[in-house]
Amino acid sequence: NKGLILKEYPKGLPNADKHFELVPRTIDIKNLNLGENEIVVKNIYLSLDPYVRFTLREPEPEYVSVDTLLEKRVSIGQVIIGVGVSEVVKTNNPNFKVGDLVYGPVGWEEYSHIKSDFAAIFSPINKESLKDIPLSYYASLLKMGGLTPYASLISIGKPKKGETIYVSAAASAIGLLVGQIAKIKGLKVVGSAGSDEKVDYLLNELKFDAAFNYKKTDLNKALSEYCPNGIDIYYENVGGQTLETVLNHCNQFSRIVVCGMISQYNLPFNEKYGVKNLEIIFLRSITMQGFIVSQYLGTDIQNEFEKDFTEWIKAGKIVYREKVIDGIENIAEGFVNLFDGRNIGRTIVKVSDY
Ligand code: NDP
Repeated sequence: NKGLILKEYPKGLPNADKHFELVPRTIDIKNLNLGENEIVVKNIYLSLDPYVRFTLREPEPEYVSVDTLLEKRVSIGQVIIGVGVSEVVKTNNPNFKVGDLVYGPVGWEEYSHIKSDFAAIFSPINKESLKDIPLSYYASLLKMGGLTPYASLISIGKPKKGETIYVSAAASAIGLLVGQIAKIKGLKVVGSAGSDEKVDYLLNELKFDAAFNYKKTDLNKALSEYCPNGIDIYYENVGGQTLETVLNHCNQFSRIVVCGMISQYNLPFNEKYGVKNLEIIFLRSITMQGFIVSQYLGTDIQNEFEKDFTEWIKAGKIVYREKVIDGIENIAEGFVNLFDGRNIGRTIVKVSDY
C-alpha cells in the first residue's frame, strides 16, 4: 500500500518532488478491528481537484479558517485527502457490503481506512449503470464534479432562457460543464480560457456562443464585445482582477455564482488581490453567493442532477473530457499540473484495475 504524504507546505505553486512524497503505508486489513460504521476500501480512480491545494496550507493568523470536512488542513506527514471511486474490501457499516463500489473522500493511496465521519458521506455506485457509463465518470462527472456546476448554476444562478452568462476558467472541468448546462437551459454562453486550443474547444466542440483567450485579449474590451447587453450570470472560478473587471459588466439584479477563485489560492495573504469596486454589488442589486459542493449532498437537487446528467450523457448532450493518468506514482505530478493551465477537463488517476 503506497500513499502520497505532504512533506512540506507549499508556498506558492506546489512542486511534486519538494512538497510531496510517495511512501509505503501499512494497513493490515485482515487483523484490523474496525470501529462502528468504518470501512476499508481499495481505491480505483482518484479525482484531481484544485480545492485540494486549499488543504495544504500552513495555519495563517490572518486567515478565517473554514475547515469543512473536505477542506480540512493536512498536517506534515499526513496522507493527502481527495475524492474518488473505490471498492469496499472490509466493512463494519450497515450501508456497505464487501464488493460494493462507492464514491467518497479517500486518501491518495492504494487502500484507505475510512472513519465514520467520512463514511457518512460515501455514496454507492450502481453497477448496472456501468453498461452505459464508464466507471471513471463516477470519480467526478457523475458525482461532485457534475453536481458542483449543476447545483450551483441552477440554485444560485437561477438561469433564464435568453440571458447571458459569462464563465471564467471555462475550459476547466467545472467551467466546461457550466457552459453546457447553460446552453441546455437556453442561455447565451460566453467563456474565457488561457490558450487558443481551449478557446477552439469551447467554440467548436462545446458550441459556446463566444469564447476568447484572456491572456491575449483585454478582458474589459472582450466583455463589451461579446456581452453587449451585459452579464446576467457570472460564474466565478478565478477571482482577483477578473472579478473586478466583470463587475463593471454585470446587469442590475444579476447573479454571481462564486464557485472558486483559483487565481488567489497560491498567493500569501498579503499578496491576494483586493477588488476595488465591490460597491457595484449594491448599486446594481447584484446577488453574489458562494457555496461548497458538499452542502448539496443528500438534497433534492442532487437527485435532479443525477437524473438529468445520466439522461444528458446517454443522449450525447454533454461532451466530457477526461485525462486518465496511470498509477499512484504519478499523482503528485498530475496534481501540480492542474495549476499550469494546460489541461482541459478533469484529470483522474487510475490507482488499480476493476
Ligand atoms: P481544473 O483543474 O479543471 O482547471 C483549472 C483551470 O483554472 C486551469 O486549467 C486554468 O485554465 C485556470 N487557472 C489556473 N490558475 C489560474 C490563474 N492563476 N488565473 C486564472 N485562471 C487560472 O479546475 P476545476 O474545474 O476543478 O475547478 C474550477 C474552479 O472551481 C476552481 O476555482 C475550484 O476551486 C472550484 N471548485 C469549487 C468547488 C466548490 O464546492 N465551491 C468544487 C470544485 C471546484 P486557464 O487556461 O483558463 O487559465
